[in-house]
Amino acid sequence: MSIQGQSYINGQWVVPTGGKFSSWNPVTDSAIAEVSSCTREDVETAANAAAAAMPVLRAKSTDDIAKLLNTIADEIEALGSELIETGMAETGLPEARLIGERGRTCGQIRAFANLVADGSYLQASIDLAQPDRQPLPKPDIRACFQPLGPIAVFGASNFPFAFGCLGGDTAAALAAGNAVIAKGHPSHPQTSSLFAKATATAIEKCDFPTATFSLLQGSGHELGTALVEHEAIKAVGFTGSLGGGRALMDIAAKRATPIPVYAEMGSVNPVFVMPDALDNNLDDIAAGLAGSIVMGTGQFCTSPGLVVTLKSELAEKTAAHLSEQPQGVMLNPGIASALNSGIQERLGNSKVELLTGGLAKETPLKPCNSLMKVSAETFLSDDELLEELFGPVSLVVECDSVTQMQAVAKHIQGNLTATIHTQAFDDDAVKSLLAALSATTGRVLFNGYPTGVEVCPSMVHGGPYPASSSATATSVGTAAINRFVSRVAYQNCPDNLLPAALQNANPLGIWRLVDGEFSQTTV
Ligand code: NAP
Repeated sequence: MSIQGQSYINGQWVVPTGGKFSSWNPVTDSAIAEVSSCTREDVETAANAAAAAMPVLRAKSTDDIAKLLNTIADEIEALGSELIETGMAETGLPEARLIGERGRTCGQIRAFANLVADGSYLQASIDLAQPDRQPLPKPDIRACFQPLGPIAVFGASNFPFAFGCLGGDTAAALAAGNAVIAKGHPSHPQTSSLFAKATATAIEKCDFPTATFSLLQGSGHELGTALVEHEAIKAVGFTGSLGGGRALMDIAAKRATPIPVYAEMGSVNPVFVMPDALDNNLDDIAAGLAGSIVMGTGQFCTSPGLVVTLKSELAEKTAAHLSEQPQGVMLNPGIASALNSGIQERLGNSKVELLTGGLAKETPLKPCNSLMKVSAETFLSDDELLEELFGPVSLVVECDSVTQMQAVAKHIQGNLTATIHTQAFDDDAVKSLLAALSATTGRVLFNGYPTGVEVCPSMVHGGPYPASSSATATSVGTAAINRFVSRVAYQNCPDNLLPAALQNANPLGIWRLVDGEFSQTTV
């Protein structure tokens, strides 16, 4: 049976009865195949089944969950070249990029398996009773993290594997012991079906409930709205536009029982090039910036959309490098036309100077690599220049002084990343720039470029609004699991009724905070 583009709900492949849409090959600019959207009834079926599966999932051991995750990663690899070829057709991304992205996807799923097996993510903490304490006895109180779900995940368009329906959000939610309902991105439904197929096989092999994972395909906001409105859903993971993320946050807040939406949204990722870096390293920085701006045809959430520096040759030299970079292809017609309109609007501003590129020549699907320049004075007085243009485009803000660069830093809103190029680490100007950026940014980096996000425990891929909906969370790295757990405390609870993580004998053998000190011993 061909499952291409189908939805997968509670163990069944389904051709839903909602409206039809087509995925699009952006390279050939032609439709691939017609796909049917899920309806509110499909959301009802998937959400109720996921809720019914939660008690079974809560009873699974950390070893069971680690095995499921490792098996999912194995099954994704077993899809072989079909996954790569399907992804290439639906996104226009090149083979090497998708092979690399598959490695990252399986790597992050296995990293969550290791995290779960290790058990430290449970943050088990035990405060033993002190019956003789005066003036009142102290009760025995123990707490650890537990599954929160079911969780709804919105797959991203720009990372069809690593942030698709089996990407980081789903891996984190499954690792925490939750059922997941993923809304596949309408731009790559066949790719999503293949991931669901791999997951379905792993679920069967590991004897997990069929509703551990469901995939709802669809185009149009009704499906996503119905999913977030459903009372069985307890949290949401999202990567995409500011408009989409904000709409889902508002829907979640208006529910009878509001839930958190962890949305990773817009970011302009400013790069500050300090005077000493202009003096000593201008050519290298110009070449590095150009490479970073065109990476993934600029369709990375960490793409450097803003360069802040003193008046210098940096803008012109970066433009020269950029004009030599090959032209890429956008992911889909919607993202391509949004970029084209954004460039058109920006070029309509007489105070913005175009240095290279501009509007797409043949089709918006093949954009020009573009660089524009503006004075800091104009930038500080025009909030439209703060908006993200999603594509191979950047804006250089030229300042009269380092003091003006600081003013620009304070004017910029929440970002996923900010970069400082300098070696003057003892300068007060660098210290105060770092202080300002740390208050508005998820990740501050020195002497590098923001594209390329390492998957590791210390990574923060998030930041204050509008970069994300919660500055306390990350969507990349193993700390992403913390979004999808609840913390429960047990007071004077009999040992046999406690979760394994909190029992006296420490059957999981994990590190626990016992009376304020970390230990792996029994209590
Ligand atoms: P998107 O339009 O935000 O869509 C993401 C997902 O959310 C899709 O499944 C979409 O499906 C759903 N959705 C969007 N708005 C919704 C709403 N109001 N209610 C319910 N569901 C909604 O993102 P995209 O399609 O990936 O790209 C569009 C733009 O987002 C880009 O041009 C770019 O500016 C930005 N973007 C930013 C990042 C980033 O990392 N910063 C990444 C990707 C995209 P439906 O449309 O079918 O409802």
